[in-house]
Amino acid sequence: MTHAAHPFDALMNITARPQAVFVRGEGAYLWDDAGKRYLDFMQGWAVNCLGHSPTVVAEALAAQAKLLLTPSPAFYNGPSLKLAQALVEKSCFDQVFFANSGAEANEGAIKLARKYGAKYKNGAFEIITFEGGFHGRTLATMSASGKKAFEPLFEPKVSGFRKAKLNDLDSVKALISDNTVAVMLEPIQGEAGVWPATDQFLRELRALTQEHGLLLIVDEIQTGMGRTGKLFHYEHAGIEPDIMTLGKGIGGGVPLAALLATEHVSCFEHGDQGGTFNGNPLMCAAGLAVLEEVSKPEFLKAAADAGLFLESELQKLSARHGLGEVRGRGLLLALDLKLPIGAAIVAEALADGVLINSPQPDALRFMPALNVTREEISLMVDCLDAILVKAGAARRVA
Ligand SMILES: *Cc1c(COP(=O)(O)O)cnc(C)c1O
Repeated sequence: MTHAAHPFDALMNITARPQAVFVRGEGAYLWDDAGKRYLDFMQGWAVNCLGHSPTVVAEALAAQAKLLLTPSPAFYNGPSLKLAQALVEKSCFDQVFFANSGAEANEGAIKLARKYGAKYKNGAFEIITFEGGFHGRTLATMSASGKKAFEPLFEPKVSGFRKAKLNDLDSVKALISDNTVAVMLEPIQGEAGVWPATDQFLRELRALTQEHGLLLIVDEIQTGMGRTGKLFHYEHAGIEPDIMTLGKGIGGGVPLAALLATEHVSCFEHGDQGGTFNGNPLMCAAGLAVLEEVSKPEFLKAAADAGLFLESELQKLSARHGLGEVRGRGLLLALDLKLPIGAAIVAEALADGVLINSPQPDALRFMPALNVTREEISLMVDCLDAILVKAGAARRVA
């Protein structure tokens, strides 16, 4: 083995990262190995719904780790049974398959839809997805995604995905054929820059899919688990989808995801689906601790209120600096900058000890912990305000 010149060099270089090495997290804050503290409005990419290292998750993991890590996916275990039951009780779905990542849950959703097509719809297999959509980084989920940058990569793609336009029902209708089995979407396109499907569009899509006997699949990996102020985003539109995927927040910081389906649609047979770590008790114990907290009505109410406060503070900031709209719902919000200055603002904020994300050059995305306080929101907005004041002064001088 040749020795890596720098510890960073031993990791595959798959993305640009700041030089800091993070060593500790607590609530809204992260610390790096130089002792610098950061106020975190990314939270592991909308993952840490209870903040960094919440006690309930740490304790659930410690207790389960001493009891049983994994008996094998060929045996039942207590935490996965309990978590599946709790998810079924709190949603419109009847059965759950646990996965280890969002992409894997979506792979499962795609397989389940194709299985349904093979079983009930003369082998129909096409899934209508959306331009701008993001469903993960496996080959099938990249193919299902409507992200422009994915298009030239890893050819040939998995076939059978046709892309419609979000909030344009006619563009969906135009793609329906005898081969179509499902329509799949994110209720809010997160990675594309927080572009919401309207509640009206979701209702129209539900009616259209029902009329044609198609499955409606919602990818709630980013919008689920209280992120938008309800436990699941589909509740806002008052619809009942056939399949839902969850990830990110469901584990509160640990790798856990889920595929949920209604009874009639849940048609996998033995041998169709599985995985070594799927439904392992350690991750499911964390998931149970998270769900117990997040599904409390007072918790969801506080998260929704925090979302409204963040939204109004961002609107004020936008008005003060002549920026664009605030998009999204609950605690998944984006601020339109109208200029490609996202990366520069993110870098300045990082230097000032605040972590935010710029999913597109002209937008900032905010995905704090769901228990974020008003004080933490004000601190973050004040930091952005100072950066924008400086940038405005620089522009006037230039
Ligand atoms: C993050 C995300 C995924 C992929 O989840 P991974 O855990 O990264 O595989 C899929 N869909 C949506 C909507 C996401 O936000």
